Amino acid sequence: MKKPIIAGNWKMYNTISQSCDLASQLVESLSLVKDVEVIICPPFTSLSEVTKIIKNTNIRLGAQNIYFEKEGAYTGEISPLMVKDVGCDYAIVGHSERRKYINEDNPLVNLKVRTTLEAGLYPIMCVGESLEEREKGVHEEIVYIHVTGGLLGLSEEEVKKVIIAYEPVWAIGTGKTATPLDAQSMHKFIRNTLSKMYNEDIANSVRILYGGSVKPENIKSLMAESEIDGALVGGASLTASSFERIVKFME
Ligand code: PEP
Repeated sequence: MKKPIIAGNWKMYNTISQSCDLASQLVESLSLVKDVEVIICPPFTSLSEVTKIIKNTNIRLGAQNIYFEKEGAYTGEISPLMVKDVGCDYAIVGHSERRKYINEDNPLVNLKVRTTLEAGLYPIMCVGESLEEREKGVHEEIVYIHVTGGLLGLSEEEVKKVIIAYEPVWAIGTGKTATPLDAQSMHKFIRNTLSKMYNEDIANSVRILYGGSVKPENIKSLMAESEIDGALVGGASLTASSFERIVKFME
């Protein structure tokens, strides 16, 4: 059985000292958790301090974004090698907020996934349809394009390292969650897409997380679905007590 992943995306919240407080509380409350892979993704400015706090614990560090080149004259951008250097093992790529506000498209997401892997990081590649796309009934087509476009050209060995986060945009930060069955059905669709692109074994080895208003109250029913391998949590990861309850969903 795959180890469930619970990843917290802190988005553009928390100063360095607030990040350190939150990380310290999580170290205290989650240090005994062994059966869940716990990842936190603070803002870039907090990474170098948070990395010290979680050193030698079971909590792993992720970046919320990276650039698609490893170094160069790219003023203001941050290389995957730099986030690796600061202690990250993961990087979120193609989050819907970046697709929406920074116009990130599938070819760019694909470049970022590739560079992330080359830098020795695990990409958490976000995919998901908007409310309009769901209402039009084209949600599977959209997710198909996100998955195939984002993974274009990856070898079998590479794709096994990618974590996919299915995040229906209409459920992010809105309090609306996809029902566990809606999520299960899209995760199955993603798994079938991977199976066609690669094979069944590869498809089964890729971890597919659900994201979109995950809370202590709904995590258990989402995780009860066989195709849901974990969660990417935004708002509820900003409070130690709610993130702790999500991570400890099995208790
Ligand atoms: C996210 O930021 O990826 C997310 C799913 O946010 P929220 O949990 O707040 O919906």
